[in-house]
This record gives sequence, C-alpha cells and structure tokens, in this order.
Amino acid sequence: MRFRSPSLPALAALALLLGAGCATSRPAPDDDPDPDTRPAESGTSSGGDALSTDLSARRPQPDAIQAPPAYERAVEQGTRTEDGRPGPNYWVNRPTYDLDVALQPEGGPDGAPYLDGRARIRYQNNSPDTLGALVLELAQNHHKKGVQRNESTMITGGVDIERLAANGTALEADAQSRPTYSVNDTRLFVALAEPLLPGETASLDVEYGFVVPEQGISSRMGYSGEELYGQTNLYYIGYFYPQVSVYDDVRFREDQGGWMEDRYLGRAEYYSDHGSYDLSITAPAAWTVQSTGTLENPREVLRGEVRQRRQEAYQSGEPTTILEPGERATPETDTETLTWEYRAENVRDVAFSVMRGGDWHWEGARTPVGDRSGDGQTDSTRINSFWRPKAPLWSEMTRYQQHSITHHSRFTGLEYPWPHMSAVEGMGIIGGGMEFPMMTLMGGYNDGGAGDLYNVTAHELAHMWIPMTLSTNERRFAWIDEGATVFNEAAARKDFFPDNGTRPHVADARSYIQGALAGVEAPLMRWSDYHYTSASYGVASYPKPAALWHALRGIMGAEDFRQAYEDFYDAWAFKHPTPYDLFSFFEAAHGEGMGWFWDSFYDETWTLDQAVQSVENTDGGVRVTVRDRGNAVMPVDLTVTLANGDTLQHRVPVDPWLRGQRTTTATIQASAPAERVEIDAARYYPDTDRNNNVWTR
Ligand SMILES: [Zn+2]
Repeated sequence: MRFRSPSLPALAALALLLGAGCATSRPAPDDDPDPDTRPAESGTSSGGDALSTDLSARRPQPDAIQAPPAYERAVEQGTRTEDGRPGPNYWVNRPTYDLDVALQPEGGPDGAPYLDGRARIRYQNNSPDTLGALVLELAQNHHKKGVQRNESTMITGGVDIERLAANGTALEADAQSRPTYSVNDTRLFVALAEPLLPGETASLDVEYGFVVPEQGISSRMGYSGEELYGQTNLYYIGYFYPQVSVYDDVRFREDQGGWMEDRYLGRAEYYSDHGSYDLSITAPAAWTVQSTGTLENPREVLRGEVRQRRQEAYQSGEPTTILEPGERATPETDTETLTWEYRAENVRDVAFSVMRGGDWHWEGARTPVGDRSGDGQTDSTRINSFWRPKAPLWSEMTRYQQHSITHHSRFTGLEYPWPHMSAVEGMGIIGGGMEFPMMTLMGGYNDGGAGDLYNVTAHELAHMWIPMTLSTNERRFAWIDEGATVFNEAAARKDFFPDNGTRPHVADARSYIQGALAGVEAPLMRWSDYHYTSASYGVASYPKPAALWHALRGIMGAEDFRQAYEDFYDAWAFKHPTPYDLFSFFEAAHGEGMGWFWDSFYDETWTLDQAVQSVENTDGGVRVTVRDRGNAVMPVDLTVTLANGDTLQHRVPVDPWLRGQRTTTATIQASAPAERVEIDAARYYPDTDRNNNVWTR
C-alpha cells in the first residue's frame, strides 16, 4: 500500500523538510553514482585500525540475530535451511476457491450496496500435521460493531453467514461439541468433525453476504462517484470472501499452533497461501467488470467491437483505446445482470472492480516481461488501465504500467508471472494506492502531478513481486514487502526519470533519517500492528527498510548484491520467506556474518554517523582517523582524492567498532598527498550527518 496524507502526517512533513535537501559542506552531486560503475577498491592499507585503541568511549555492542526457537525448529525439520532457503521438506498448504458473488447496488438494508456470496473452498493439507480445525479470515468484520481495531472506521455490520457446511455437513455456530464454527472479530474458526489428515483435503461451503462499505478496510476497497459524477460509478471489491489463513511451518506463536490467526485490525495487511480461483461475478448488465484472473466468457459479456479492440490492444506495444466515455462494453441484453467468469491460478488473493457503463476510459497494451517460459523468446503480459474523465493524469497510466512491469521483471530477475496487470482509478475511495494480485486501485493524483502518479504506479506494481509472489507475512513484518517495494520503486523511478536529478534511494534514506532524528522510530522487528503510532509504523515499514536494501548493496558490492537479490526472489517465489530466511540468505551470499548490520538496524534503532576526525599526509601514506559518533555499525568506505588527480577507494572493516572502539585510523599508501577524503561518497549508507563526512586540504 502507499499511504497519502493525512494517513502519515509526520512523514509527509518530513518529506517536505527533506525536499529542501540536506546541508553539506560541498555541493551535492547530481545523482548517486551508478552502482554498476563504482570503482573497484584500490590503494593499500597499512593495517590501519590497529593504530588506535580508544576504548574509553564505550559503545553498545551488536549481537548476532538470534532466531526464535520456532524458526530453529523449522531448520531442524528441514523445511528451511541455515543458508536461508526453502528446505528439502518445505511445504505449503493449498486452497482452491470457487466463488459466486453478486454485487447488488441497492440490495442491502436501506438500499445500501450489498455483496451476496457463496464460497466453495477445498483446502489441501500438505503439512505433516493433523488439523483439528481450520482458521479463516473475514476481513469485512472490521466493519462490525465492537470488533477490535487500531484505526477508526465506518460500521456496516460485517459478514452475515447464512450457511456454513464442512465436508458436506451444515454446522451450527458456537455448538458445545464439534463439528461447529465460531466467529471472533475478523476470525472464523471451524472445528471439524473428523481431523484433516496430512495429504487430505477438507471442503467448506459458505453462504454469506455483507453491506459494502464506502471506504472499506482502511480505504482499500469500497465505492465512489456520487460526489464527482452525481451517482456511484465504481465499486472496487476486495476482502470479500472467507479466506483460509496460513498454516505455517514456522510457529512464531505456540498458542496459535501453526495457524496465523492475528486479527485484521486496520493497519497491518495480509498473509495468505497461493491457490486457484474460479470466480463468477454477477453485476448490473451495463457495467464493466475487471478482475484478478483471465476472463473466461468474453463472448457473453463484451460487445463484438469491444472484444476486437481488446484483442488488438493486447497485441500492441502502444497504449490502445478499448473503450471511451459514452460507450458501454457490454451487449444490450434482456436481463438486468450479466455474469463474468474469471479464473486465476497461483495467486494469494483476488479482487475486482465493477464500473458503470459510459463513464470510463479503458486502454490496453502489452509489455515484455522477459523469457518466462524459457523457450528463448521474450514473453509479455497484458496491461489494462481504467479511469474516469476527472482523473486526466491517468491518460499516461498504460505507459506507466508498461514501464513498471517490464522494469521490475528485469530488476528482480523474476518475470511477471500472470496474464495481466490492471490499474483502476479509485478517486473517492483511496488517495494513495493498494495492491491486489494482477490488480491495483489508485487515486487520481490530480493535485500531485504526473511524477507522483508514476511513483505510486511503480510502487503498487512492485508489490506484485512482494508480497504477491513472495508471500510474506505483512501483518507482522510489513517492512519486508514495503521495504523491498519502496526500493524497487526507487530503481524504477530512476530509470523512468533519468534526467530530473532525483536520487530516489538517497531520498528514502533521508526520509528514514528524519524519522529517526525526530524520535518517532521503533524497531523494524516489532510486529507491525504493535507499533504505538502510525508514524513509527511508517518509518519502520517504508523508508528505513528501503534504505537498508541500498546499504546492503553498498556492503556487498553492487554485483554480488544484484546476484543475491535476484536469487532471493527465485528461491522464495510462491513461498513464505520470514525475516530470518532473509538474514541467513544474504549472509550466506555475502560469505560473512552480518549480525552487526541486522542488529544495529533491524533489532535496534541505532543510527549511523561516521565522521572524518583528521587526515595527515605522511611519508607512509595518507593517515585517516575516523570517529564513529553513532551506535550503528558499518564499514567505512573512504574515497581519497590525491593532489595528482588519482582517486583511491579504501574500506575499513567493522572490526574496530566490534572491539568497542569509537575511533580508528587507516593508513592508505598513496602516490601523492591527499586533497580530499570522503566517507561513503557513493551514498550507500544512511549517515545521519554528512557535514562531517568530508575533509579537504
Ligand atoms: Zn506498499
């Protein structure tokens, strides 16, 4: 998700502060140096840090990250490995959904919009465990009176369950003995008559419905149009069916067994297994439906001319008009409704939009994703953009999506895996953006401008990789998916706007630093719903973890990092990586322990401030004394510019800091006196004060 103010007023204010640029003792470079052309280390050291033993100024020492026993057990059982990969015994359970839903614009109490649904779920137990119960999420109960939540919301009543059957037997709620089911806030617990054995499949049939909230699930779904168009012309429907929670091999909470049953509280997001979906959506006949998945019955729901234009658009590299305002997509029918059939494979959720005929632009194209099928040919995916006339910046949306999907496919090394990516303009529901597999809902950005609209597009589409393909537990560790997404977004921005002087990765670091200096920070590893303020959730989930990916690139070197980053996506696609997998994976790739990095920045809220204390030109070389003013541990990357114009790179490893030192001295052999010395000239690290990073003669 991308928040827009007022969700994070503190961060928005910080971003404004940051826009002014930070004061440095020299003009800021136009851009951070291209990591791929960063000079190799040169120069030599004369043992450096041994010269200093300033132990008087004590500093806290980082610990190695200690994975919890739950994770250690998973490694012992071979579902995960010590080098952070899925193990030989890795498993995930698999749900299959057959969903029949009808959107009734006036079908609820007092003419409110209502979604009437029927879900047939088959759940395959691939775990070695016998399951006595199933746990599902009913996110719409966020809108039920009296339910726990950490954000205020409108009350609509939540989910009405009309019938629930398990393995063919209808169950009574809250019975004294099994089989039965019970609803607790956003959780649905089904106690089975017979336990579900390893390798077996259970089935559930649920008939249900709910009043569609106008700005539901923290502005992640709902409806709009009344204000700008005089009548509702968009329903964007997500979180609309009972969704099986994840039964995991890593049991972070023993009291929950293997089930992830943390409530949906409003702020932190989702976690689910990949599965297959058959989705039938019944909507008013003149309206257009776009969903996650492939449309199975275009002949029944699209006019011939629209089908023709759609096919042409999907063959074209150029954005192509499929529908213009004033036209409807559907054929004239005698019926009041039409049913759209969609099918989706290997997705962890589905969402759909229902758009009033005549009010929408619909544009399509295709875009390359790389060689997905491995046949030596470049594959492509389909792009759809839907927007209303009062969101004119969206006329560029197809290009933005094309660029984002192609860029992210290349940058992660993982080709976009699905048949389409579709963006729906959601003014009146959402200000920022929200991701769903193959689908995103985003604001109009009329006030933000084209750059902001590109950025949010690159952001939401980056979520197709994390958490939609690498399915992380967003509810507990929002920083994994949001951090990587902000990082990938920044890379895409730099590629899309190469000439505008922005330094997206550096800007993210500054945003984090401002949050840290403002004292709103809390540890990244705090479970996301347990942050005390939305500002600390914001810093810990977005700019800080993004800045740390960039720092990791500095630590590992650009080429090693790129390889490891791509390998990580490859290893964990369609699986559930945890933070401990991530730490182990990148340590294994780097070949060295990095507990000092994880502990300084992920467990603690220590900050980095390295300073050049003194520089002496001696017969033995350039003697540089560095003072470490912050508590966060980081190697010192020195760039020494000599009087003869040569430039030397020298890295001081973390050892002196781990010995408790506050200063260290390195002697760098040089062919001429130093004119200038700079710490982290490449701007990889989130140094809180760059005024003290530079020495000049
Ligand atoms: Zn996001």
